[in-house]
Parts: sequence; structure tokens; C-alpha cells
Amino acid sequence: MKTILETKNICFEYENFKLKNINISLKHGDFVGIIGPNGSGKSTTLKLITKLIKPKSGKVFIFGKNLEKASRSFIASKVSFVRQEFNPTFEFKVKDIIELGAIHIKKSFFNTVNDSSKIKKCLAMVELTGYENRYFSTLSGGEQRRVLIARSLFQETPIIIVDELTAHLDISHAIQIVEILKKLTESGKSILAAFHNINIASKYCNYLYALKDGELIFQGTPKDVINKENIKKLYNKEFYILNHPVYNYPVVTV
Ligand code: ADP
Ligand code: MG
Repeated sequence: MKTILETKNICFEYENFKLKNINISLKHGDFVGIIGPNGSGKSTTLKLITKLIKPKSGKVFIFGKNLEKASRSFIASKVSFVRQEFNPTFEFKVKDIIELGAIHIKKSFFNTVNDSSKIKKCLAMVELTGYENRYFSTLSGGEQRRVLIARSLFQETPIIIVDELTAHLDISHAIQIVEILKKLTESGKSILAAFHNINIASKYCNYLYALKDGELIFQGTPKDVINKENIKKLYNKEFYILNHPVYNYPVVTV
């Protein structure tokens, strides 16, 4: 399959943190996960890929185009980003939040196309039919995450990047979201997502990158990456790894 997103040796520095030589690639239809402890550099990596911050060295290519030279509108037509935190300052309705996802295809913010049937369709895809006039701030954490995914769908990008996919969600709402995304990859979208729930990543991703202290220390299929030795190295702690009796993927147990 064709590689549609690629990073080549990207490096980045905050005052007290270095991200070193990150090489990640995403192919058409992939569901790729980035795992690793808190502070290992997952969000920083995703911000570099979406050009929210610029690498100190190295390059990012999206559909073969060097991100450094890519316009905002080119990037917005190819990549949508569901960020870890999203707290709009104003009271937005769900439909407004979703429409903001298509700002790049409009002339200006105030000249938005009121495409209510498209909004309805995107909401139905994330199991939020009828939510368009609800205020975003009144939704539960899981509903808010799904609205942001609907916004990505409205943006119609082939690549969706999601940070901390399942943060603050109970297990059934977490699974609901991951299954929605899995379905999207089956219909041709490509997803790169940071996970703190390693078992969800293990079940749903076809490829994993493991980050520790700003370095990619393991990569491969969940079976390649998730074993006793690797997980000990990644989290500095010993865990038992079992094989899921029905679905046949590695599970980290506490
Ligand atoms: P993760 O998403 O894996 O938890 P992050 O990429 O958010 O990790 O953070 C990696 C490291 O970079 C952390 O040590 C964090 O404190 C630091 N960091 C993140 N954002 C900034 C910032 N804006 N300024 C300085 N340091 C930051
Ligand atoms: Mg993070």
C-alpha cells in the first residue's frame, strides 16, 4: 500500500525535553498507534506532523509534499487533527464546531456554507444523530470526542490524527469511539492515534510505535511490540502479558 504520511528523522526540543529522530509512516487504510508513558513525546510528535510546531531538523511528507512548503489549506485538505484538549472559549453549538472543520474550503469564517445535510451525515457516522443544536459544553466527554471526529469527517481529509483517543472515557465509550474509527479505516481513511490504553491499541491498531523519553524504541505489529521484555523497558515495570483468548492479541495485565 502507498505511504501517504512519512516523517524523516524529525527532531524537536523544548527546554527540558528532546524528541529524537522520529521516523513514522502511515499507509492508506492504516490504523497506526503511538504508545508510551506520559511525557514520552506522543503529543509533540502529533503536533509536528500537523505543523502546529516546526521540527528543529528532519522532514514531514504528506502525500509526498514536504510539510515545510505546504500551505495551511493543503494541510487542512489532507489532515485533520482531533487534539487532546479542546475547550472552546465561546458557547458553540455542535453544528458550528463541525462546520469549523471545513474553514479551509471556504472563503472566510463568516461565509460558511450551511450544509446541514452533510452535518447530519457526519453526526450519524459517530452515532450522534440529532445533536446538531446541542451546546458543545453540555456534552459528555465521549460525546465531545465524537463531535470532534464528526468535524474531521466534515473536513473530508484522508488522514485523521487523534491525540489520546480514549482519555477520560469509560471502557464502553472508549471502545465505541475506537470502533467508529476502525470502521473509517475500512472505508479508506488512514488514522494515526496516540493511546494511553495499550490494550485498546493492541486490539485495534495494525501497527504500533512505542515512544520513551522522546525516542522510538520499538515498532511493529502489536504482537511484535507488546511482550514482557518490551513493556518492562517502556514503562520501567514488570507486567504479565497474556494472549486474548478470543481475539488473539497481546493483553497487558495489572
Ligand atoms: P505525551 O503526549 O507523550 O504525554 P508530550 O509530547 O505532551 O508527551 O510532552 C513531552 C515532554 O515535553 C514533556 O516532558 C512535557 O513536559 C514537555 N512539553 C510539552 N509541551 C511543552 C511546552 N509547550 N513547553 C515546554 N515543554 C513542553
Ligand atoms: Mg499527550
